Amino acid sequence: MPNIDPSTNIAIPALPDEIAGLGEIALNLWWTWNPHGKNLFKQINPYLWKESGHNPIALLKSLSEGEIRELARTETFMREYRYVYARFKEYMQDSTVHHEEEPLPIAYFCAEYGLHHSVPIYSGGLGFLAGDILKEASDMGLPMVGVGFMYPEGYVRQVIGSDGWQNGANETIEKDVAPIERVLDKDGNQLIVQVPFIDPPVFTAVWKINVGRVTLYLLDTDIDRNDPWDRQISSHLYTPDMNQRLRQEIVLGIGGYRVLELLGIEYSILHLNEGHPAFALFERVRSAVENEGMPLEEAIAHVKATSIFTTHTPLQAATDVYGFDMMSHYFGDYWKRLGMDKERFMGFGVNPDKPTEGFNMTVFGLKMCNHRNAVSRKHRDVTQKIWKNVFDTDGPSQVPIDYVTNGVHLPTWLGDELTSELDRTLGEGWLDLQHDPDIWLRLDELEDRTIWDLHYTYKVRMVNFIRERVRRKWADEGIDPVIAMAEGVMLDPDVLTIGFARRMTAYKRPDLILHDLERLEKIVNNFAHPLQIIFAGKAHPADMEGKKILQRIFKTAQDPRFRGRIAFVEDYGEAVAKYLVRGVDVWLNTPLIPMEACGTSGMKASINGTIHCSTLDGWWPEGYNGKNGWAFGGDISSDEADAAALYETIENRIVPLFYELDDHNTPSGWIELMKEAMKSVSPNFSARRMMREYMEKFYLPISKECGQTKEKSSS
Ligand SMILES: *Cc1c(COP(=O)(O)O)cnc(C)c1O
Repeated sequence: MPNIDPSTNIAIPALPDEIAGLGEIALNLWWTWNPHGKNLFKQINPYLWKESGHNPIALLKSLSEGEIRELARTETFMREYRYVYARFKEYMQDSTVHHEEEPLPIAYFCAEYGLHHSVPIYSGGLGFLAGDILKEASDMGLPMVGVGFMYPEGYVRQVIGSDGWQNGANETIEKDVAPIERVLDKDGNQLIVQVPFIDPPVFTAVWKINVGRVTLYLLDTDIDRNDPWDRQISSHLYTPDMNQRLRQEIVLGIGGYRVLELLGIEYSILHLNEGHPAFALFERVRSAVENEGMPLEEAIAHVKATSIFTTHTPLQAATDVYGFDMMSHYFGDYWKRLGMDKERFMGFGVNPDKPTEGFNMTVFGLKMCNHRNAVSRKHRDVTQKIWKNVFDTDGPSQVPIDYVTNGVHLPTWLGDELTSELDRTLGEGWLDLQHDPDIWLRLDELEDRTIWDLHYTYKVRMVNFIRERVRRKWADEGIDPVIAMAEGVMLDPDVLTIGFARRMTAYKRPDLILHDLERLEKIVNNFAHPLQIIFAGKAHPADMEGKKILQRIFKTAQDPRFRGRIAFVEDYGEAVAKYLVRGVDVWLNTPLIPMEACGTSGMKASINGTIHCSTLDGWWPEGYNGKNGWAFGGDISSDEADAAALYETIENRIVPLFYELDDHNTPSGWIELMKEAMKSVSPNFSARRMMREYMEKFYLPISKECGQTKEKSSS
């Protein structure tokens, strides 16, 4: 009795009619940002729910037929089920656009998406941003589809050896328990698409993920039709082999475009997140020329006018550049089809600063899209400077690159209990007004005690989570006790806690706080007012410097001088991030200015009342208002000066404020800071505010222009 959408062949166990909708809910990530959805699955069996890694498909598969039948006879469960299913249906069937105006359909392309840990197709910040964009587009009812990659062995699980050296273990995605569905062709087989006009031919299978009302299509080259080398095109994120990387980007951009065309998905606006999928622009031109008979120049002008390019890099060196020979190897026939010669074709990717270097994907995006944005105000200034020569302008400030500062999807990143508190304090329906700073002023009505108790609950939960992980390693792998200590068994929820969790890479300076170990030792071991620090984060497998920094941190955590108050939590990912951003007291960020394009983890912390402490880089110059956190260090970063400034901030401001209790035994000064962080960051750095800006700056103006063009041609 298979009773889920026939377009899928994921084997969810047969469910009785009374609870048939459970399969539908399990196959839509909507539940991941709805407390009721999460509770529904938890209620089935809290223990199995935890064991499944919060994966409803794995959970349902672990139940026996009898247990499933029993579920349909349990009245408390059925009541909850009916309620959640009705809300889900209502959400899915709501066709209103939650905005004053409606844009034309948008196709969003990105190389990675961070949606939930049951779909490990992300590596870091870029992926979470893309995931939050799809979720918010769904909530707002925007007509959007996503295109990305399925990485069968994409996720690198971090395993740290006893010497503190990071060893990666590739994790294979378990396709039969992930909330992904095969997209089928008319014969009922999985849709397989040939990447057009690329020689030698490459084929890609198509999957989809339901992200609320938005569909994300994923390409997968790991199929029999391809030879072994081609099968691996999509296996790893950002493969360091440049030839293979070029093939990845061809499949993502050109193959992805083709998939939407074959599925008959209509859209007018193309949004490229970073340079990786930019080849979609060429395919758009080709399609207009060959399929619609548009003259080449008109096609180029049309593509430019209707495409958006978002850049996330603050350094020219961080962009993908492919040698002209390598490009010619794949695109030899392609530019002829476009009606271009080689020079014109390559010219779209030539960086005027390094004209012989090759085809630069960011330069290409900037040249082929008339709508361009950086991801924070500061990053806009940097971007205008570094790409000045791509544009014929008088000075950097004239460079036509706008900015939309990133934001985070509140329903995903806010704790559930905090969300319930907000329902009571801000009033039902607040999510639809979340971008309005005024509604957040109502937070003043929230009792200090309530906020503090809630925060303490999250802190205890985080500490328990970390200890439980170590307990398992201790029990299963028999790790050295010193390692167990370094991984956090001695953490204490009553102690002021700083969290630092992000990619372990040199420019983020994860070890800045370890600059002067003697000074740090005094701060950490202050008898009455101690401090503990929790680190987490992965180094890129090829980043030796990052691995060395991580090792230094891990060794410091083992140092008895710090008495177990420094911990390194293994395998930072979406699940660990959620515990940490809610559970620590201070979220530390130490990037070398101006290397952080935006940063979003500090936003996730602030909306939960965890106080951000950062150098003035990325989003923080826009976010910091003098009373919602701390800013330290100079405009031009020096490790020496910045470390000293950080210690001063901790010693003179953070520690005293945290431990200063009022008559009710609560740190009221600290709680004021928490409230101010939530009030100022939630409305302004939410994905809702971000998407409203994408609407106002790009989606709506493009839609209007398209409308006008149509009117003109028909009159
Ligand atoms: C939010 C997030 C990031 C990005 O955070 P940054 O502040 O940009 O470093 C990376 N990894 C995970 C798991 C996240 O949740």
